[in-house]
Amino acid sequence: MPKSELFVARPNLPEIEELLPLLESIWDSSQLTNNGPLVQKLSRQLESYFQTAHVTLCGNGTLALICALKSLKLPVGSEVITTPYSFVATASAIVWAGLKPVFVDIEEDGFNISASAIAAAVTENTSAIVPVHCYGKPCDVQAIQDIADHHGLSVIYDAAHAFGVDCDCGSLLSHGDASIVSFHATKVFHTFEGGCVVTKNTELKEQVDLAINFGFRSETEVDGIGINAKMSEFNAAIGLLQIDRVDDLIAARKKAHEHYNQALASVACVTLPSDKGYRSNYSYYPVLVSKECKLDRDALYNELKSFGVFARRYFFPLITDFESYKDFRKGNDLPNAQRAAEQVLCLPIHPSLDTKDLDRVCSAFTRALL
Ligand SMILES: *Cc1c(COP(=O)(O)O)cnc(C)c1O
Repeated sequence: MPKSELFVARPNLPEIEELLPLLESIWDSSQLTNNGPLVQKLSRQLESYFQTAHVTLCGNGTLALICALKSLKLPVGSEVITTPYSFVATASAIVWAGLKPVFVDIEEDGFNISASAIAAAVTENTSAIVPVHCYGKPCDVQAIQDIADHHGLSVIYDAAHAFGVDCDCGSLLSHGDASIVSFHATKVFHTFEGGCVVTKNTELKEQVDLAINFGFRSETEVDGIGINAKMSEFNAAIGLLQIDRVDDLIAARKKAHEHYNQALASVACVTLPSDKGYRSNYSYYPVLVSKECKLDRDALYNELKSFGVFARRYFFPLITDFESYKDFRKGNDLPNAQRAAEQVLCLPIHPSLDTKDLDRVCSAFTRALL
């Protein structure tokens, strides 16, 4: 039998039979998109799950971020402080919104943007901050809000990884002016493609609703330069079939996380992720392969591959190392982000990994490094 391949993510899928009644309801109503009944239903359910006032569903997380930024009506070309240690969409959305990303370093121990680096990068042209709750781990939301309040800046969190995360700061998605979540197939909760804007600000929610639908306020009125970022009824149906079981999916991820923590603890040269101090969603399992290790990160990545274990180098390269972003590099020192990008490796973590799969990853990992 061929060795099965283990990937970093594997989307949970509902049974096709479960989908049929929802498809029938779509066929019956003939409303396929444009804020249909399933989109409305999923929005209400997510508002309750996130304990937030407003959710606007979008076609994907990238469009959600673009629309959230557009809705703030920031000066065109103004500076938005963000992190180079993220998926490229964090920065591309800022540029698509007509703004200029300014990249600052991440914290020394951790993967999130450094609040002191943000404070040091504020200029008179700064209009907003876009931090990322990297791997779902909460940013220092209080320090970031203090900086924003002090300088009159907006804050939009890229919470693409943070579905279902809570912290002692309360519901993580309630911080800043808004947060965006991604429902891409590889994320903890998915709708094939999808995402949302979460905000407690009713006026901002109204602007986002306009922005995702070309700006249409009524049949004859267009307000602002909108885009098409709507979620379809089909994608909402997929979401409705997962929302009730997402806590179970997160619990299954937690088991995998704990299995790794235990089995890999003997590999002293690597730093394992910690879930201390917040309710994690176990969306990723990032390890840091230090210089003391027998193999460097890339060699380990290749070694695991030869055992059918497809780890991923999230996030490498840094966004600032992509040629397309060279104009935004600005000579900032990003030593912490650089080190994380060189050392990080995300191991497979998803609800369908069984003990045998996890053991296989761990034995390949320990065999390579011990
Ligand atoms: C997945 C992701 C996005 C983009 O979400 P899509 O739904 O794929 O458009 C944005 N930011 C981060 C950090 C992500 O991981």
